[in-house]
Amino acid sequence: LPTLAIVGRPNVGKSTFVNRILGHRAAVVEDTPGVTRDRVFYEANWAGRDFMLVDTGGWEDRVAGIDHRVAEQAEAAIGLADAVVFIVDVHVGITTTDEQFVKVLRRSKKPVLLVANKVDDERAELEAASLWNLGLGEPHMVSALHGRGSGDVLDAVLEILPEEGSTPAKPDGPRRVALIGRPNVGKSSLLNKLAKENRVVVDNVPGTTRDPVDEVITLAGREWTFVDTAGIRRRVNQTGGADFFASIRTQAALDRAEVAVVLLEATETISTQDMKIIDMVLESGRALVLAFNKWDLIDEDRRKELEWEIEKDLAHVAWAPRINISAETGRHTDKLVPALDRALESWDARIPTARLNAFLGTLVAAHPHPLRGGKQPRILFATQARSRPPRFVIFASGFLEHGYRRFIERRLREDFEFTGSPIEISVRIRE
Ligand code: GDP
Repeated sequence: LPTLAIVGRPNVGKSTFVNRILGHRAAVVEDTPGVTRDRVFYEANWAGRDFMLVDTGGWEDRVAGIDHRVAEQAEAAIGLADAVVFIVDVHVGITTTDEQFVKVLRRSKKPVLLVANKVDDERAELEAASLWNLGLGEPHMVSALHGRGSGDVLDAVLEILPEEGSTPAKPDGPRRVALIGRPNVGKSSLLNKLAKENRVVVDNVPGTTRDPVDEVITLAGREWTFVDTAGIRRRVNQTGGADFFASIRTQAALDRAEVAVVLLEATETISTQDMKIIDMVLESGRALVLAFNKWDLIDEDRRKELEWEIEKDLAHVAWAPRINISAETGRHTDKLVPALDRALESWDARIPTARLNAFLGTLVAAHPHPLRGGKQPRILFATQARSRPPRFVIFASGFLEHGYRRFIERRLREDFEFTGSPIEISVRIRE
């Protein structure tokens, strides 16, 4: 769901505005004992559109008058949001805190709707006009007294709020796969094998615009788009900067793909170039499948050695499904689709906020964060900010140690079976 954040200094009228949006149809995201008592996220609806509402109102009393904290908290809310409503009190005018908000808003590059609240008379209207100076566009005037404007503002909100939220829409067409790996690992052999044993779709798939460098192949009864296959089939000139161009091509393929199959050579030691390619996948946030090719060429000794190399060099991607194949003989190439399916399922996954917080509540109760300087950092609330890949935001009362974050990530992966997708966790600290 798209997420709207309501920000502004204390007492500018955020709560009134939030209540106006929520009305009596508010579905408060449930508190979970041990996790939080603050109600920050709401599921809201206006004019038939559903969205999430991040209310920063609960932070007011803690942040009042402390400028850097105001900015910090606002930044957290804005970071989560797809669009922001920024409320200013015309009677007070522009304060330094407001200016800080504006800086944060600009940096975020999120669409912002400026609301001038408490515009009850002509003088206030003039003051509201001066808010153009904030550089956030037209100030939308609202008056609780005259019942003016909030409906219009909400209509305007719907216009800046994306339909789908920050999560890119699932394509209607075939899932997009990037087959990548260093030269000679067998990319083109695998592609040929898959194409030969399976149907290649020649005509355009309805509803999708297919780039001519891509190839659509039917695997396990479903169509899959292999992106930039032209780049795989064209033999790269190995002299001068081949590495550089190969990496540009890999990047371009990743940009257009949803899942990457990184092909490695079982016969060869895992190289720094292999590691670089895997890092590129991680950075791109795409789902990942590891495929060890040329399995027909290795013996028992090499197999053992390889297991050891994997443990040593690929521990950071131990969550990726792994297949051991031979493009030459076709060994286990039928395991590619189940691996892709698993990776994409995790990549698409969305954990409902209530379930996520129930999970964290139980986890934290059983394994509290170690004391830091006599204090116990607590996890207050968590939400999945986006998927493809899944990103989680955890609000905590203090700094969470690296090891503890890793522990949470590991348990999150185990409990919700995130296989083959990178997951991001960011921690926001609320005093
Ligand atoms: P690319 O550069 O990644 O596209 O690699 P190619 O597909 O051109 O393969 C490089 C070489 O490895 C070719 O000589 C292939 O015949 C060979 N090859 C690829 N896959 C296998 C495999 O599974 N087993 C064996 N024995 N040879 C393979």
